[in-house]
Amino acid sequence: MAVKANELGQVPVLMYHRIVPKPEMSLDRSTKELYDELTRLAKGGYVPVTAAEFVNGVFNVPAGRHPVVLTFDDSTPGHFALDAAGNPKPDTAVAIILRVAQENPGFRPTATFYLNKELFGMDDTQAPAGLNWLRRHGFELGNHTVSHPSLAGMPEKRVQDEIGGMEDRIVRLTGAHTTTFAYPFGAVPRKKAWAEKENGRYAFQGIFLAGWRPSISPFDEDFDRWNIDRVRSEGKIKENDCTRYCSTAWLEYLDKNPDERYTSDGDPNTVTFPRTAEDRLAKGFRGRARAY
Ligand SMILES: [Zn+2]
Repeated sequence: MAVKANELGQVPVLMYHRIVPKPEMSLDRSTKELYDELTRLAKGGYVPVTAAEFVNGVFNVPAGRHPVVLTFDDSTPGHFALDAAGNPKPDTAVAIILRVAQENPGFRPTATFYLNKELFGMDDTQAPAGLNWLRRHGFELGNHTVSHPSLAGMPEKRVQDEIGGMEDRIVRLTGAHTTTFAYPFGAVPRKKAWAEKENGRYAFQGIFLAGWRPSISPFDEDFDRWNIDRVRSEGKIKENDCTRYCSTAWLEYLDKNPDERYTSDGDPNTVTFPRTAEDRLAKGFRGRARAY
């Protein structure tokens, strides 16, 4: 075959926090750092897919290219704002994603935004137009709780109020439910089922951790949609072992170890992989398998 497809390979799910002109706090990334990282992904053959598409294994990436999931936590103003004419303000994450897509044909402009009550600094009169602009333009809205507490050790009712309260608000503003959730601080509640669904209020299809490594493929039998790893966007700084475990280091690693990376076969209906990886395929996808 022309491309060495491996749809049982790893997928980087990148985790961004504040995007600001000049980083001030740990986890901040500058607008230039975001632009440079997205450009690197585009030039490296990556194509963004949403978190919801990823957890369900439903995405259409051209042959020989690699899926990447871009996630932005905490809905801070640097992620998104509309100007008076109704276009994304320059230097917001959304504007930067659109610019990189324009400069790199084939780089699909999409990302998943994990929202809490800050809602990009929009008040309730601005939020409906803002959130619906994102949805209409192919961006995904996810749930990240109302007030961003650690859910670890919290009683069931409070876990459900934090998640359900945010879900109620998103539904009220957009008319639509979210499909994925990200734990604040990556902190897991005493019972994960409390976060996964509450009857009638929320029912997710996948949950993301904070994490330190790329995700395994959604077609891998070990893939756990309730505990999906993410990689912090950061250069190879000493803090938190970013010399090995943040995005710059992992993207270099995957470039150097292409056999470990997810490479698409170009057909969303088949799951293609080298025969040596065959026993890793999840049973539910056997009907779509193409081993070579
Ligand atoms: Zn957060």
